[in-house]
Amino acid sequence: MANACSVFGRGEANRDTSLHLLPKDHNTREKWLQFIWSDNVLENIPAKTWVCSKHFEDSCFLNLEQKRMGFATKLILKHDAFPSVLPGVATAVDS
Ligand SMILES: [Zn+2]
Repeated sequence: MANACSVFGRGEANRDTSLHLLPKDHNTREKWLQFIWSDNVLENIPAKTWVCSKHFEDSCFLNLEQKRMGFATKLILKHDAFPSVLPGVATAVDS
């Protein structure tokens, strides 16, 4: 089974979206959990918790330019980056 973004349980990942695993760093991890589940953080965090690249600001990535130019296949997050972008439902209509 393919991995999917954990934000609101949406599996919206596609070829233009990379998935990023929950970081180990405690402080950064807390920010991710707050973003994913807001005030309803699960007691048992799934071992594989993924957030797709749509939820990060451009500045969170180390190699966004390379990815856009086709030199990189996978986006790399800065180690202290955390998700903050919630794509609106209306933006899901890109063709
Ligand atoms: Zn997502």
